[in-house]
Amino acid sequence: MATIAENIQQVHRRITRACALAQRPVQSVTLLTVSKTYSADAVREAVAAGEHRFGENYVQEGLDKIDALIELREQLEWHLIGPLQSNKTRLVASQFDWVHTVDRLKIAQRLSEQRPAELLPLQVCLQVNTSGEAAKHGLTPDELPAVAHAVAALPRLRLRGLMAIPEPTDDVAAQRRAHRHLHDLMAALVADGLPLDTLSMGMTADLESAILEGATIVRVGTAIFGPRPQAAR
Ligand SMILES: *Cc1c(COP(=O)(O)O)cnc(C)c1O
Repeated sequence: MATIAENIQQVHRRITRACALAQRPVQSVTLLTVSKTYSADAVREAVAAGEHRFGENYVQEGLDKIDALIELREQLEWHLIGPLQSNKTRLVASQFDWVHTVDRLKIAQRLSEQRPAELLPLQVCLQVNTSGEAAKHGLTPDELPAVAHAVAALPRLRLRGLMAIPEPTDDVAAQRRAHRHLHDLMAALVADGLPLDTLSMGMTADLESAILEGATIVRVGTAIFGPRPQAAR
């Protein structure tokens, strides 16, 4: 079986190839290593292989891992990429560096109020539902502009861009359409004056399609750590 370090190399090769195809500089795409369900020791291996940005889905699991790796805290960036309820915002505002899944103004307001003054602003993306009623989370494209302008004005947050989790499909054309939709939504906000620079889209199965459509952060778990145990997708 390949090691975590070998898998990471392989993912960087995929990113490099996709950037070449898209005629984009390889530095324009950041790898977010998704460590949900994997141990702090697995994260250590990824750190030893050169990674320092980690994505977690479940707030409590993320906090436990941040804690277990506290001696590395200064060199790591922790990204929340799972759903966030309002009773967890205080912990997230004080412990994480990024939240990709803001999908309500109320949550953003709480995060801004609760972000400790001694930390940099919390970096956030708005999660957008680009796949219609199938998705449980995310702003609709119609709701997006008003919420984006309101979130951008919050003092302790820095709105960086948009995130989506499209319906899984093997059809590359369909993958690209979904990613292009998110890209176009961000382009419209930028044209409207918001200084956004981040498109968080693409996972193990569709990172190439995402990069071809402008992804700046790809969130990759399975290709690095292997399949996750059941029930913990
Ligand atoms: C689990 C997860 C990923 C990683 O998915 P893989 O298919 O394992 O690469 C990316 N983004 C989100 C939001 C996730 O929940």
